[in-house]
Amino acid sequence: MSNKKVVIIGSGPAGYTAAIYASRANLEPLIIEGHEPGGQLTTTTDVENFPGFSDGIMGPELMQTMKKQAERFGTQFLSTMVTSVDLSKRPFTIKCENSDEFQADSIIISTGASAKYLGLPNEKELIGKGVSACATCDGFFYKNQVVHVVGGGDTAMEEAMFLSKFASKVTIVHRRDSFRASKPMQQRVFDNPKIDVLWNHQVSEIIADNTGVTSIKVTNTSTQEEAIRETNGLFMGIGHTPNTKFLGDQITLDDHGFIVTGEHPDTNIPGVFACGDVQDSYYRQAISAAGTGCMAAIRAERFLEEN
Ligand code: NDP
Repeated sequence: MSNKKVVIIGSGPAGYTAAIYASRANLEPLIIEGHEPGGQLTTTTDVENFPGFSDGIMGPELMQTMKKQAERFGTQFLSTMVTSVDLSKRPFTIKCENSDEFQADSIIISTGASAKYLGLPNEKELIGKGVSACATCDGFFYKNQVVHVVGGGDTAMEEAMFLSKFASKVTIVHRRDSFRASKPMQQRVFDNPKIDVLWNHQVSEIIADNTGVTSIKVTNTSTQEEAIRETNGLFMGIGHTPNTKFLGDQITLDDHGFIVTGEHPDTNIPGVFACGDVQDSYYRQAISAAGTGCMAAIRAERFLEEN
């Protein structure tokens, strides 16, 4: 079993940034990338809000560039999943799906969060062609178009508000007759003339042609009556699942399953740090993930110096 100073678990902008900083600090990090190296950004198209790319950059290319930068300073990469960790004593133990096992003096968790989807048969293949789970990323592409947002929590309210800056009409489709979102967020939605709400409905089908999404079928949750609604975009606002299963109950999580960190990206276990979307239900941006990745690597470096 090989022993590492730092093992980074997860490879989006947070993980790669942590790797850049840790490798430049001569910590010779290993990054265990998972099955989808690059994370959520590899499923997006244009990224127009990452500073430094005035003409925008494609999500997969941005991740490749970050990876190359980490590689340049000696980061080691492994494309497998971590199945479990033992954080009860240092060095920590990390077990992988391919039966590799590592010991680590410190761990940086950057496994991200996965947006929840409805589970409709074609929704994943329509991501980037009318289906999205990130208004901040994709809203701009829906200028003067009609969009629908699914959900009734703060995420759905926020997505709808953001989309209303571009779209000609935003309809929130919610499966019940009241929102669970905070009252001020609800009020902002109700006060917005561009947003209306279709209560007691579920999206039951996404209809598309070769240009992308053209309409959705909605089903009334009380009467089961069906209707077709034309739309250019369908945004999922039904929450995110942080990827923390491999941690068991060793790390403190909040009520929604996100890792709890404080002012610094420290977890409840000294030597274990968390960055990016796995600990952030609020910002969820590539640039904020990269920022916390930098912070986690600096914290790991100081921790190793002191211990
Ligand atoms: P929530 O779990 O709060 O809400 C999810 C919503 O999606 C619910 O209304 C739920 O319906 C609906 N939903 C879930 N599954 C389905 C499904 N299969 N089909 C249709 N509808 C579905 O998640 P959020 O992401 O909205 O919020 C998570 C946390 O993050 C909260 O604490 C929230 O306050 C916080 N947050 C805060 C923000 C802010 O302050 N700016 C912004 C975003 C999030 P139902 O109500 O019927 O269960």
